[in-house]
Amino acid sequence: MNFSVKPMRFLADTLAQPNETPAREQLLPDGTTLRLLDTGLLRVSPSQPGTHRVLISCGIHGNETAPMEIVDAIVGDIVAGELTVNNELLIVIGNPPAAVAAERFIEENLNRLFSGKHQSSRSLESLRAAQIEQVTEAFFTAGDEPRLHYDLHTAIRGSQIEKFAVYPYLHSRTWSAPQIGFLEQCGIEAVLFSKQPSGTYSYHTSHLHEADSFTIELGKVRQFGDNDMTNFSAISAGLRRVIAGQELFKQTPKSIKLFAVVEEVIKRSEAFQLHIPAEAKNFTEYPKGSLLASDEGYEYRTQQDGERFVFPITNVPPGQRAMLVVAPTELDPID
Ligand SMILES: [Zn+2]
Repeated sequence: MNFSVKPMRFLADTLAQPNETPAREQLLPDGTTLRLLDTGLLRVSPSQPGTHRVLISCGIHGNETAPMEIVDAIVGDIVAGELTVNNELLIVIGNPPAAVAAERFIEENLNRLFSGKHQSSRSLESLRAAQIEQVTEAFFTAGDEPRLHYDLHTAIRGSQIEKFAVYPYLHSRTWSAPQIGFLEQCGIEAVLFSKQPSGTYSYHTSHLHEADSFTIELGKVRQFGDNDMTNFSAISAGLRRVIAGQELFKQTPKSIKLFAVVEEVIKRSEAFQLHIPAEAKNFTEYPKGSLLASDEGYEYRTQQDGERFVFPITNVPPGQRAMLVVAPTELDPID
């Protein structure tokens, strides 16, 4: 381990050595330890145990720059002594080689490879998913504190609802009203409840580690340097409160919109077609009976007024998700 005196520049160092970064450690004057485990994998430990174990990930898709810049500013403030760390923290930049290439991925979509789905291929992203799973497990199992995971993204397509979170499928667990209240305070306008398991990082940590986990979409993809960081001040402030141990998760949801996934449209064959305009925004609303997608022996027509599509994409391999269809829902607060 290299006890370097040169301060850590997390994002710059990661992009400079995207495939492998020598492990190094930095001790701050207040006793906080930063340990760079490998490229884009940073553990931060306060001198005293905290109340939560907090995982913040970004760059799972390499071209989604704003979340990486948000996280880099947080690490910069920790290193500078301007943000006190009072909870165990793991920060992940998911796909550094793709970030350098300014691409969503190099070989395949990293966010379809978690929960062991990486075992069926030897792509760059599969190896990375396996490594991230290992580091995540070591982090979450090192203590008994409640586990949190915020996986930050931006979207390819414009959206009628700019900032929203996806709540992974919970199986028999119940959803957390305080977490949704916290997201609302972070400027998140809507939450989508998934209805089945998936290969996403947030589903993995939710299901295997019973973390309160979310995929968080923060707006439209832009290049490094083109992001208006004032647009992310609420989420940035929220994450900083969590890191500093100041967030008490006492907020109940007020006006945040809730949507249930009513259909996960899977591309079955190369005959798959979307019947929505290329420029249509996520969350565009359709009346009952509208044809949204078709494939060999399949079509999806909206089942009720007010259904909306999210994340439509046609250039995925058959067998992968091509679109989500969601509808407004109300859930009884349970947690
Ligand atoms: Zn993404």
